[in-house]
Amino acid sequence: MSYLVVGGGILGASAAYELMKQGQDVTLVDSQMEGQATYAGAGIVCPWVSARKDPDLYALARASAIRYPELVESLRNDGADDTGYRLCGALALAEDEATLQELYQEAVTKREETSFVGDVKTLSNQEAQAMFPPLADDVKAVYVSGGARVDGAKLNRALLQAFQNCGGQYLEGSVSLEVSGDHVVAYINEERIEADEIIVATGAWTNDLLKPLGLELLLEPQRGQIAHLTLIEETADWPVVLPQSSHYMLAFEAGRVVMGATREADSGFDYRLTAGGVHDVLHEGLAVAPDLVEATLEDVRIGFRPMGPDGKPLLGRVNAFSNLTVATGLGPSGLTIGPYIGKLAAQLATGTKIDQTIDHLDPLRQT
Ligand SMILES: Cc1cc2nc3c(=O)[nH]c(=O)nc-3n(C[C@H](O)[C@H](O)[C@H](O)COP(=O)(O)OP(=O)(O)OC[C@H]3O[C@@H](n4cnc5c(N)ncnc54)[C@H](O)[C@@H]3O)c2cc1C
Repeated sequence: MSYLVVGGGILGASAAYELMKQGQDVTLVDSQMEGQATYAGAGIVCPWVSARKDPDLYALARASAIRYPELVESLRNDGADDTGYRLCGALALAEDEATLQELYQEAVTKREETSFVGDVKTLSNQEAQAMFPPLADDVKAVYVSGGARVDGAKLNRALLQAFQNCGGQYLEGSVSLEVSGDHVVAYINEERIEADEIIVATGAWTNDLLKPLGLELLLEPQRGQIAHLTLIEETADWPVVLPQSSHYMLAFEAGRVVMGATREADSGFDYRLTAGGVHDVLHEGLAVAPDLVEATLEDVRIGFRPMGPDGKPLLGRVNAFSNLTVATGLGPSGLTIGPYIGKLAAQLATGTKIDQTIDHLDPLRQT
């Protein structure tokens, strides 16, 4: 069987890699859109203390977070060892004692289901600052050792590299789809490409691709602007910082600190930095970590999160056609759940039995 995966962000790349691991004949095509969410994504992988309380989403995030070390090992074995993944721990911040206790309880309760949550402890301000020195003097934190981070751009490159090392074919180009009888056919830059099965994983752009098939998902782009700062000191071991707002922070090697991010509904595909967006990110971030005020502002990235109707992925076969699987809608959690959803998409395309129900993720759901 031949498989075509359209879209080479974390979701498409994960699906394509999974198919290769099953020994299939796979082509992956990506059109290198400006605003790819995976490149812009911050990279927090920590569902153990999360603002998103949906149990279905948590189940997916937990399955994916637990699987990350195994994926990293598999990529390494396939010749791609720079994934930017690290189990660095997380600090969930609180300004008052009641919130601190709630965060602590959430992590401890989740640890009853999986030991991957790791150590959970409340920290004084001084202890929190010892782990993430620029933090403000008025915050306390719950520390969770099972929090992790991943560099979306590096992981994506690693997935594509391992995919090709396993024999997969990667093409750059824009795909369009057309109906032919009961199935869908694909064209790359107007040239027809034969594939028995097609997986559409084109993130926020998916409706553009599906329109000629008469399909429209409840899916919108949500712009995120996200700042990359640099410091002189080494920051590789710093934990992820999760305040009570959507303005988080995380650090990578060589003094890089990422401060995110705006969540701009109704942005359309407007690929621009805005004065308000950059102000918002820096203002909120510096309120949490004022000592970053002297850091160098290296870069501000823009990404379009693929937002479905309810924060949950859009994943499933499209029954109107014999060969089409759709996978998108990863929203703000895609660097966490992308590898797992990619695996499920590959299983759907190959007809492999999935040992959980995914009916609630129906990509054509209208609520
Ligand atoms: C600012 C920001 C911060 C984030 N932080 C986090 C975080 O900390 N933790 C977390 O878990 N998640 C985070 N996310 C969410 C995560 O980045 C996304 O959910 C995820 O990357 C979506 O992946 P995707 O593969 O579905 O889409 P994308 O990465 O957008 O990939 C879609 C791909 O499809 C291609 N494409 C589109 N149309 C076509 C076509 N016609 N033909 C061929 N190719 C096509 C594009 O070129 C693109 O490469 C963040 C997102 C943003 C924007």
